[in-house]
Amino acid sequence: MLAGLDPEQRAAVTAPAGPVCILAGAGTGKTRAITSRIAHRALSGDISPRHVLAVTFTARAAAEMRHRISLLGVRGVQARTFHAAALRQVRYFAPRLLAGRAMPELLDSKVRLVTLAAARVGLRTDRAAARDLAGEIEWAKSSLVEPGEYVVAAARALRDTPHEPAKVADVFTAYEQLKRSNGVIDFEDMLRAAVWGVEEHPDVAEQVRGQYRHFVVDEYQDVNPLQQRLLDAWLGGRNDLTVVGDASQTIYSFTGATSSYLVDFPRRHRNATVVRLVRDYRSTPQVVGLANAVISQARGTEARLRLELSGQRPPGPEPDLRIFTDEPAEANAVAARCRSLIDAGTPAKEIAVLFRVNAQSEAYEKALTEAEVPYVVQGAERFFERAEVRQAMVALRSATRSIPGETPLPTAVVEALTAVGWSPDAPPAGGAARERWEALAALVQLAEEYAATPEVLPIGEAASVERPVTLTDFTEELANRAAQQHVPTVDGVTLASLHSAKGLEWDAVFLVGLAEGTLPTTYAKTVEQVEEERRLLYVGITRARQWLWLSYAAARSPGGRARRPSRFLPQLDRSGGTERAATGTGPARRPERRRTQIMSCRICGATLLAGPDRKLGRCPTCPSDIDDELHERLREWRQRVAGAQKVPAYVVFTDATLTALAERRPGRPEELIAIAGIGPRKLGLYGESVLALVGGAGVDDVCPEKTFEIQS
Ligand code: ATP
Ligand code: MG
Repeated sequence: MLAGLDPEQRAAVTAPAGPVCILAGAGTGKTRAITSRIAHRALSGDISPRHVLAVTFTARAAAEMRHRISLLGVRGVQARTFHAAALRQVRYFAPRLLAGRAMPELLDSKVRLVTLAAARVGLRTDRAAARDLAGEIEWAKSSLVEPGEYVVAAARALRDTPHEPAKVADVFTAYEQLKRSNGVIDFEDMLRAAVWGVEEHPDVAEQVRGQYRHFVVDEYQDVNPLQQRLLDAWLGGRNDLTVVGDASQTIYSFTGATSSYLVDFPRRHRNATVVRLVRDYRSTPQVVGLANAVISQARGTEARLRLELSGQRPPGPEPDLRIFTDEPAEANAVAARCRSLIDAGTPAKEIAVLFRVNAQSEAYEKALTEAEVPYVVQGAERFFERAEVRQAMVALRSATRSIPGETPLPTAVVEALTAVGWSPDAPPAGGAARERWEALAALVQLAEEYAATPEVLPIGEAASVERPVTLTDFTEELANRAAQQHVPTVDGVTLASLHSAKGLEWDAVFLVGLAEGTLPTTYAKTVEQVEEERRLLYVGITRARQWLWLSYAAARSPGGRARRPSRFLPQLDRSGGTERAATGTGPARRPERRRTQIMSCRICGATLLAGPDRKLGRCPTCPSDIDDELHERLREWRQRVAGAQKVPAYVVFTDATLTALAERRPGRPEELIAIAGIGPRKLGLYGESVLALVGGAGVDDVCPEKTFEIQS
């Protein structure tokens, strides 16, 4: 295991028990280092895996950690999100702490109660307004701010509040009351309950601390004060804690997260082992170059800690930067590119389309469906909002009462779903029935995976037992996932928000909608908010192993108002005839200032910037529909003409023009002249011959002499 690590990673892995802090850039192997550290310590007998609690922020990242640890041959480690870990603890101790009362139901969204609370204090809200208020309440609760403290705290944090702060505080108060009277709790309450359980109950503290002795936190730059408080409660003054993070990837500040715990870690733990990693093992030097260029422009606190990454992988293709006339054209081009990547052998699950806001997902869902590319929407509510999934969850819940508890989980799930009309046989591909079937099949697969990870229950100070997971556990897991929007994986292209992509990687990544107003969002008003948006792009770029595509649409819908490219995109390099995303820096060039005539790829509709691409009339990566036989005849003809005129072949027609001719097969002079590289002069010189060749004439038929006759 140590052999697969570089010296710095090895230092982190073999550091003695105690505080360890890994400060490193994207793709440098932070997650690999901590999973290896856990495995190394477990396999060397230093620690027992069941005493380890590894936490991170998204359910998918937690699953990834579990997966990596199990690949290293270690079982029994709890790798969870803060929420899942807290939920487990609260559920486990609820009977004791609530004196037999049932645990209150966990709200999977605040929006409904916030709407009611707002109405109570005289505010009428639509869904978007309620969501903003809910976000503000979430920020307050994650920042340990009570309703009575809100006004002062919001002012101090320079919050851009959705209403007058006093009014928000009123809604906050009413929301808390409503929750109590409805007997429900929200996410933050659950974390608070976990804190309260440990801080106020010595017996609970003793048991929890006996169970969890070694802590690991991934993505520590995004911890919020409430989560930190829980972590401190778990630690109870002990210091066997490994944290890893990258200040340049701080993207949850708006929810109350702060990189200050990461940045200050070495100061708070004087004896901490601090490791810095800069070698990027994930991405090609081309991707790394772009990432460095984007983050080099960053300002502010987080930027002070940025590290210049050095790409370790062999070179790959340059990142692609594309501009489209409108969003549907952009989505269709992305779908077509996904299709060709898959056809060329890239598994669909190794491709991701990442966007700033979930609302952008729909255009891509549509385009991918039309291109018959399977996909899965991550981080959006969609999966758990699907009617059949909701129905299945109800069916599973009611089956917990009818199906005997000892039934193996996958069997129980299949049985319960069969009762609502699902069958293990897939209907034919394509169509809504298949889609519904696949959603439920994903639940069955999830049950199988879930059944493979037994519950580990603490029993007293030193021991724990494993018990098989039950249908009840599974329904709770689903509810928790629904609340956290953790969609089970199916083999499809991932559609995800940039926020939910953190810590993950794919062979091919499409960063779409990179226009001003979307990234940065119009809501980013302060310098700090704009910086966070820049970090989001950095997170997006650094997800790509091999292929990276950045695009935006000049207008939202066909003929709509023009938009500018994101200010974070590096300057378009116009030197040397090719215009690509250069790894240089500076403001992006705006399309309206460009004099060159707009020209679109005839396959995907992308705006063509580079000279050769313009000649070709399509992107070099778009599939060619060339007529090989015609191409060959054109080549031979060109050679003869060039020979007769004693000029190099490219003077007659360049390769790109020749390819364009063989692809587009022009039938009339107007079509000929539309091909880049053919002006009136060349039309006069060669027009007739070329049209004849396209029409099927042999090279001998259109002899060079005849061509010169035209000239004379
Ligand atoms: P992020 O900041 O995005 O979370 P990270 O620092 O956690 O990134 P990892 O996900 O651990 O990075 O590693 C990135 C990729 O590089 C993974 O595919 C990992 O397996 C690989 N990798 C890490 N270290 C090495 C190494 N020493 N040799 C080869 N590959 C490595
Ligand atoms: Mg990571």
